[in-house]
Amino acid sequence: MPEHPAVPKVRIREGKEKQLIRRHPWVFSGAIDGKKGTLFPAEPAVVKVETSAGEFIAYGWYDPQSHIPIHLMSWDQQIFPDISWWVQTISAAVQRRFVLFAQPHVTAFRLIHGEADFLPGLTVDRYGSMLVCIISARVAWDHRIVVVQTLQRLVNPACIVVSTDEAFCGIEHLKVQSEWYIGGECVDRPADPALQEAIFLEHGIAYTIHLGEGQKSGFYCDQRENRLRLAQYVSGKQVLDAFSYTGGFSLHALVAGAQHVTALDSSASALETLGKQLTLNIERGIIPPESKNRISLIKGDVFAYLREMESEIYDCIVLDPPKLAQTKGQVEGALRAYKDLNRLAMLKIRKGGVIATFSCSGGVSREQLRTVLAWAAKDAGREVQILETLGQPVDHPIRLSFPESEYLKGFIFTVL
Ligand code: SAH
Repeated sequence: MPEHPAVPKVRIREGKEKQLIRRHPWVFSGAIDGKKGTLFPAEPAVVKVETSAGEFIAYGWYDPQSHIPIHLMSWDQQIFPDISWWVQTISAAVQRRFVLFAQPHVTAFRLIHGEADFLPGLTVDRYGSMLVCIISARVAWDHRIVVVQTLQRLVNPACIVVSTDEAFCGIEHLKVQSEWYIGGECVDRPADPALQEAIFLEHGIAYTIHLGEGQKSGFYCDQRENRLRLAQYVSGKQVLDAFSYTGGFSLHALVAGAQHVTALDSSASALETLGKQLTLNIERGIIPPESKNRISLIKGDVFAYLREMESEIYDCIVLDPPKLAQTKGQVEGALRAYKDLNRLAMLKIRKGGVIATFSCSGGVSREQLRTVLAWAAKDAGREVQILETLGQPVDHPIRLSFPESEYLKGFIFTVL
């Protein structure tokens, strides 16, 4: 292993090193000692990060324009995070998904889960024959070519779309943009709409997305296992899929024999896509044609709908709201909203009914969500039993040294 004597060094302030030594990958500007022993590179580059006493902590990527000026990547002094590190780290992440590649009835899943797979600011989802890379940090944008070429070689998709994550473009000084790659080469966005569409399966149910559009990567494959959990409770029941988006839970409920499903979302285009998924599954013989009569699509606000709807209509309610707390400062308001939603659902559901509730806010812990449910039950005057505790599937691993990688929490509970 060659030494890298020319690597600039960055010292960490005394007292700020502990988390980094424990392999948390984010170095914020307040932790950097701008004077003692620090020599910043002129351009974004790999730096050697040291304790205040000058001991090696890790190699990381320095970029002062990022809201996280250093992303730590390798805590081994012998392993320098150059281009071949990216190739190896991407390959290792893809190889860890080998079990999923062997499942013919599941063709959408996450290949790279950002820092939880040691790759800063990069998530990659597979949708059938296409891959979608979502970039939330400058370091990942700067390395997109090696990312695309490595994925092309390993997975051989028909197409790879690389998009910056709008939610981070401001703080990362990145443009909101997408690039299309075919055969590993950057190309113009294909004019043929068929090439912009991915069709894939989740537990044998067909879904489509329009690439480079929609929220995040266009389909929430993190709820894959939870949709199956919910399906156990819906046979012969009246189901409300609140925050349905394009119908991940709704279609699973139909297939599992729900008597009727109401898909409720504020986005007309999400509901339009849901309609397309329904047709696609009927055409492919995955669900019987009469299923169309067992589902209603309603455009509306979930909070208002729950407040105004009559009681005792639904036996089963799914509450899968968007990220209600984007930042730590928004957690308190989000908890109030989660409480409100769950209280209303508890009040209105039929006795003995089942609610599947979720939070995908990283800043809201599982304990906080449970506490919110307890408050909601108290206010609603209901006795509630938790039946199942839900989280993220195996392709969205939680890295212990990076607690932020755990974001999806859920419970299935019954209201007595
Ligand atoms: N359950 C979905 C994912 C939900 S994403 C699935 O399994 O795929 C969150 C959805 O909530 C988005 O589709 C968004 O349009 C919708 N949404 C956000 N705020 C809403 C509100 N107040 N009322 C209704 N829908 C809302």
